[in-house]
Amino acid sequence: MSNKFQAVVIGGGPAGYVCSIRLSQLGIKTACIESRDTLGGTCLNIGCIPSKSLLHLSENFFNAKNLSNLGIETGDIKLNLDKMMKNKNKAVTILTKGVEFLFKKNKVTYFKGVGSLKSSNKISIHDKQTKKETIIEAGKIVICTGSEPISLPKINFDEKIIVSSTGALSLNSVPKKMLIVGGGYIGLEMGTVWSRLGSEVHVVEFLDHITPGMDREISKEFMKILEKQGIKFHLESKVEKIKNNNNSATVSILNKEGKKSDFKCDVVLVSVGRKPNTKNLNLEKIGIKINKNMTIKINKNFQTDVKNIYAIGDVIEGPMLAHKAEEEGIAVAELIAGQSGHVNYDVIPGVIYTSPEVASIGKTEEQLKKDNKKYKIGKFPFMANSRAKAINEAEGFVKMLSDQETDKVLGVHIIGPHAGEMIAEVAVAMEFGASSEDIARTCHAHPTFSEAIKEAALSVDKRAIHS
Ligand SMILES: Cc1cc2nc3c(=O)[nH]c(=O)nc-3n(C[C@H](O)[C@H](O)[C@H](O)COP(=O)(O)OP(=O)(O)OC[C@H]3O[C@@H](n4cnc5c(N)ncnc54)[C@H](O)[C@@H]3O)c2cc1C
Repeated sequence: MSNKFQAVVIGGGPAGYVCSIRLSQLGIKTACIESRDTLGGTCLNIGCIPSKSLLHLSENFFNAKNLSNLGIETGDIKLNLDKMMKNKNKAVTILTKGVEFLFKKNKVTYFKGVGSLKSSNKISIHDKQTKKETIIEAGKIVICTGSEPISLPKINFDEKIIVSSTGALSLNSVPKKMLIVGGGYIGLEMGTVWSRLGSEVHVVEFLDHITPGMDREISKEFMKILEKQGIKFHLESKVEKIKNNNNSATVSILNKEGKKSDFKCDVVLVSVGRKPNTKNLNLEKIGIKINKNMTIKINKNFQTDVKNIYAIGDVIEGPMLAHKAEEEGIAVAELIAGQSGHVNYDVIPGVIYTSPEVASIGKTEEQLKKDNKKYKIGKFPFMANSRAKAINEAEGFVKMLSDQETDKVLGVHIIGPHAGEMIAEVAVAMEFGASSEDIARTCHAHPTFSEAIKEAALSVDKRAIHS
């Protein structure tokens, strides 16, 4: 095998594998280096996919236990956690193998090992098993090394008692009591899983609200719904210390009144954010600069300070989301091929896969206020949506924000059934620069949840029909 490539991608997650495939499609001889045993990165191995699998399975378990309320008698429903985990692992294996197949199909050369820059066009690959080093050469290099969980000062993950999201995806028994540090989307998704499976879940959040950055009205409604589901919130509280007692943990919490208390639980999930993964790369030595927040510094074309080296995905600024990383993968491949790759950062949806789901795109009301932008609001509750009522899933609402003068849609925030699927309609509309009137005049099938989006658009001009 020749060790000279037109492009080498370091990291085989959503940014890296998508970029590698697109580069190959564009006729560029490409290799991708991945240090993990399987392709797909955080997303497929320890992120999006295993968490969505467990969310789905735990929801089925919870619903099955409550079917008798709907007139369906099922008898004694029992949890087999081992089987549930095997099911989750099977989904991960199928999908990661699928990426390997796509590499073969698209003629991307795949190297297993840790990639590190020797110079601006030489990369060393260290094979952890054989301890062998291979040097390859590249015209262009794309760094896609992703991110890893942050812990609190002096607190180490043992992934059994004090866990990151990775450990929380693989617990071998249902904790009686679980404490989650941080009220962001990853913590809340994992908290929902374990709460449905039987844990008493507590969330400690430093701020006075959960899901920072989300439209506040939606965030308030979300917390209310999660509380109703049994999750307990401790806002404006700070975790000062976590003691690992080997079969339990003691968490020292300081609340807003300055009162300290010790909380004993079986498992603590520390979910306070993620940091870009720039270790092992030798960046500084070859002149690539890092921003204060540890992301790699790039220009608008994703180029680092060394112009033939690019960076994309979680390792650069912006929301740490798989689909954002994928968009950047395609854009940078097209730029390398001399085309005009581009990412529209104003239209990147964000979804929380709880029940109900929460989905957002564009500006929040708080951002519009901060920007002094004049806006109109349309809202529609799922209580008034016939499909949601028919299937007993009528919590939540759609909120649409549009420009007061031009009526252009600026942001849409949904909490409700299948919100994560419905937000795609709004993404397409926003990409085409739609107004709320455009959405209001588009025929939506009946009875569907998406009629709530049409009604929210109608409500922008106070002409919703069903509320
Ligand atoms: C629990 C959880 C749930 C999530 N759920 C969602 C979700 O529902 N939707 C969503 O959009 N996002 C979700 N995310 C975030 C999503 O996983 C990331 O945004 C996405 O994976 C980023 O892609 P990436 O390619 O930039 O990085 P990664 O997926 O982290 O991939 C980087 C890869 O590079 C490899 N690597 C690192 N250093 C080297 C090196 N020196 N040499 C070779 N390889 C290296 C790593 O092993 C890794 O496989 C979730 C994350 C977590 C943790």
